[in-house]
Amino acid sequence: TGINFANYDDIPVDVSGNDIPEGIESFQASDMDELLKDTVTKAGYHNPTPVQKHSVSIVCAGRDLMACAQTGSGKTAAFLLPILSQNFKDGPPPPSQDYGYRRKVEPNALVLAPTRELAIQIFEEARKFSYRSWVRPCVCYGGQPIGDQMRDLDRGCGLLVATPGRLVDLIDRGKISLGRIGYLVLDEADRMLDMGFEPQIRRIVEQENMPYERQTLMFSATFPRNIQMLARDFLQDYIFLAVGRVGS
Ligand code: ADP
Ligand code: MG
Repeated sequence: TGINFANYDDIPVDVSGNDIPEGIESFQASDMDELLKDTVTKAGYHNPTPVQKHSVSIVCAGRDLMACAQTGSGKTAAFLLPILSQNFKDGPPPPSQDYGYRRKVEPNALVLAPTRELAIQIFEEARKFSYRSWVRPCVCYGGQPIGDQMRDLDRGCGLLVATPGRLVDLIDRGKISLGRIGYLVLDEADRMLDMGFEPQIRRIVEQENMPYERQTLMFSATFPRNIQMLARDFLQDYIFLAVGRVGS
């Protein structure tokens, strides 16, 4: 796996939906935040991959997205960059309304991932792009003391990467509130369903304080019927992006 940088233009890209924004030509020529552009260059990302070209402009335009692309096509930055760009431009949120030891943590962006390994990878990538900003990414997954993760969350969390089971636990303990979610990302959605996480995912997305005005982005290698149903239930007027050949 990995990105074949020689053959970007040979990869078939299918974009469909209403009012499709034009893809970006380069990170530098995009509307992304200037500090983020500089960080992206320093990280060695000189050219956007096909999924990044389209995802950055679609998410920056405020649209929901269903993206199908194979492993190694650069999906992580495809969702992290437009989200972080908006976070950088917006600046830190006003302080939380409730105080005291039971203070809830209210992230602006939530990324759900199927496994601990994948969650850590996304978290590391988020750190790589945000270390010079106010955004503090956190990662939570099962099999680790929840108390440690709760203390880490207390230090502030703008972007939370989590596995579904552990997040449900944190919500049930009153530690996390989704009332300020602006971005919800389901990464490797097909794998999460294969692993049996659909009930947890539905509980998370159907939290009563989950903002209706959020943007929802789903990423998947394949597009089988159960993913199509989830897209229909979670996304609004979304753009469908398929890069390369997509199995169902
Ligand atoms: P996917 O989630 O589609 O499997 P990743 O987001 O994990 O792919 O990216 C695969 C690898 O390519 C990672 O090592 C990542 O750092 C690197 N990468 C992603 N986008 C770019 C880019 N535009 N330029 C250089 N390297 C990139
Ligand atoms: Mg990935």
